[in-house]
Amino acid sequence: MTPVVGFVGLGNMGGPMAARVAAAGLELVGFDVAGTAERLPAGATAAASVEEVAARADTMLLSLPDGPAALAVVDAVAAAAPRRAATVIDLSTVGPLAATTAAATLAAVAVTYVDGPVSGGTAGARAGTVALMFAGPDAVLEANRSVLEAITGNVFHVGHEAGQGQAMKLLNNFLSATALASTSEALAFGRAHGLDLAMMVDVLNASSGRNSATVDKFPRRVLTGTFDAGFRTALMAKDLRLYLDVVGAAGTPDAVGRSVSEVWQRADAALPGSDFTQIWQYVAGD
Ligand code: NAD
Repeated sequence: MTPVVGFVGLGNMGGPMAARVAAAGLELVGFDVAGTAERLPAGATAAASVEEVAARADTMLLSLPDGPAALAVVDAVAAAAPRRAATVIDLSTVGPLAATTAAATLAAVAVTYVDGPVSGGTAGARAGTVALMFAGPDAVLEANRSVLEAITGNVFHVGHEAGQGQAMKLLNNFLSATALASTSEALAFGRAHGLDLAMMVDVLNASSGRNSATVDKFPRRVLTGTFDAGFRTALMAKDLRLYLDVVGAAGTPDAVGRSVSEVWQRADAALPGSDFTQIWQYVAGD
C-alpha cells in the first residue's frame, strides 16, 4: 500500500524533493513554518501545523535546517493527537546525536524514526539524483521505497541504526568542504602567480588535483559569478561542527578536520547569509 506522505520543511532542498513526490502521483500534505502556500508543490495539500501533518500522513519526511529544528518537529509529532504517522524519515543533516535522540523520543510513542540525509545539492534535488543515505530497518525501507525512489534513483541503505546515515553524510560533507576550501586556497595562490582562473580549473580537471569543487562548484557557481548553489555557508559550518563532535567522540584523527572547520566558521562569520560557494570570496579576499 502506498503511504500518504507528509513533508515538513519546504526550503531549498525540501521544496524540490516534495515536488518530485507530488509529481510521482503520491498523496502529499506539506507544512513549512515560514509559509506553506508559497512553497507547496503543485498537487499537494497544505497543513497548518506539524501536528496536522502527523494526523493526515502515514510517513513524514523532514527537511529542516539543523538538529534543534528537527527535534522540535519530532516533539510535535510525539505530542500529536490524533496521530496517523507511523514513520518519520529525516532527510535533514542533524548529526548522529540528534538522530538517536529523535529515534528515542518517537520510539516511546511507537513511531519509527530513521535518518536519510541527502547529498547532491539543489540541482540534484530537482533532478532526482541526490544520494540518500538511509539508516533504518529493512521493512521501513521496503514500505517506503516508492516514496524514496520518487525523490532519487540513488537510495543507499547504509545501516540499520539511527545516526549511521548522519555519520555517512557528515564524512561526505567534510570532504566536500575540504575540496572547496582547499581549491580556493590553491587558485588564490595560482592567481598570485599570474595564472588565469578558468585556465587553472581546466588544467586541474585534466590533472590529479581534480575534485568536486573543480568539476562542479568553480565552473558552475564561482567563475560565473553567480554563487547560487543554494546551500548556505552557515549550514556547511554547522555540518563541520557536527562532524568534529562525532570525530571527538569516536577518537579518530582530526588534524585536517579542525583546520577545515576553522576556515568555514570564519567564512560564515565574515559573510553572514552567504552561499557556500562564496568561500572563494572569503579565502581569496575578493
Ligand atoms: P532551508 O533553510 O532552505 O530549508 C529549511 C526549511 O525548513 C525552511 O523553509 C524553514 O522555514 C523550514 N522550517 C524550519 N523549522 C521548521 C519547523 N519547525 N516546522 C516547519 N518548517 C520548518 O535549508 P535547506 O538548504 O533546504 O537544507 C535543509 C537540510 O538539508 C539541512 O539540514 C541541510 O544541511 C541539508 N542539505 C542541504 C543541501 C543544500 O544544497 N541546500 C544539500 C544537502 C543537504
